[in-house]
Amino acid sequence: MAVKTPIYMDNHATTPTDPRVVEAMLPYFTEVFGNAASRNHSFGWQAEEAVENARATIAKAINADSKEIVFTSGATESNNLAIKGIAEMYAEKGNHIITCVTEHKAVIDPCKKLERQGFDVTWLPVLPSGLIDLDALRAAITDKTILITIMHGNNEIGVIQPVDEIGAIAAEKGIVFHTDATQTVGKIPVDVKKSNIHLLSFSGHKLYGPKGVGVLYVRRRKPRVRVTPILDGGGHERGMRSGTLNVTGIVGLGKAVELCIQEMESDTKRLSGLRDHLRKRLLESIPESYENGDPNHKLPHSLNISFSFVEGESLLMGIAEVAVSSGSACTSASLEPSYVLKSLGLGDELAHSSIRFGLGRFTTKEEVDYVADKLISVVEKLREMSPLYEMHNEGIDLSKVEWAHH
Ligand code: PMP
Repeated sequence: MAVKTPIYMDNHATTPTDPRVVEAMLPYFTEVFGNAASRNHSFGWQAEEAVENARATIAKAINADSKEIVFTSGATESNNLAIKGIAEMYAEKGNHIITCVTEHKAVIDPCKKLERQGFDVTWLPVLPSGLIDLDALRAAITDKTILITIMHGNNEIGVIQPVDEIGAIAAEKGIVFHTDATQTVGKIPVDVKKSNIHLLSFSGHKLYGPKGVGVLYVRRRKPRVRVTPILDGGGHERGMRSGTLNVTGIVGLGKAVELCIQEMESDTKRLSGLRDHLRKRLLESIPESYENGDPNHKLPHSLNISFSFVEGESLLMGIAEVAVSSGSACTSASLEPSYVLKSLGLGDELAHSSIRFGLGRFTTKEEVDYVADKLISVVEKLREMSPLYEMHNEGIDLSKVEWAHH
């Protein structure tokens, strides 16, 4: 069967909205368009009922209470609200925050801002596997620590951090624990009670829901956690996030979560099977290719591989009809190697020639084989033109070569 191109294999960046989600959302644009905060007519009551149904579905999915779900515009806002909101609320208790170097920018940048404002931030390194060292976490805690923010699943390498253990450490020390679960909710089980999570962020568009809607879970009991709001206004969402609720988005998010929970077992089985197939084909057919991130603590749909002796940009150009992400982040002026891959110990060159594959609900076996075939042939072609690869094959240790400088 011919494969239709372009092929989408970048499901960490975003996912297509499931048609069943779109269908659930449609009536809320036109028929049930009320403001969920309108208390004195049926338009408002119907909108509110839809929001509360979604809230209950979402709460149940992460083992929380409905009252603990705060709707936001997405994970960026949720992370900002959690981190800045705790920093401000607990400033009198202490000024120390612990996070990790492989976090998403939506965690790193709020922490950096707080650092500039006088907060003390510990940036935990990661092991070559991508996991944090729990002993290093324990050692970093001081009597001034008010927040531990460590992500659940990493968006570049798919590594799943040990949230149960982190939560247990935070609980023992009486410190608030926030996790950015944007890549995990709906994909693997998430249980805020079991893992002692106090604050948790995620976005609708990573789980086959709409863009521009997300959640911050804020624990209300054992312990009761409070965050200072970023937006002031009508006092929606228990005062934590003012602004008219995005009813259509919330309905879509609720439906998306419901489907993810229903289909988690079968999706995980199918996607991890396809991912393992892709991994095996690439690693077995391409010499000098390496997997990034601990394969035993990894999201089922996620794979990140480095290909040595090829140039990153040529590699991506060679597979132009496949939408994947490279180990480079385009900043305004330059092509920077991924800070996540560098933190695992990869050099700039290898980070640039790495590819993140994100399989998804709509990925087919044919697509996976097409991508594997294509990569195998492109890497081979690029290496035929590589003098470095030739030297390597002749047994020359490239790290010991003294290059002439002009
Ligand atoms: N955290 C993680 C781990 C992510 O992968 C993303 C999306 N790339 C975000 C936060 C930000 O989500 P959003 O853009 O929906 O605000």
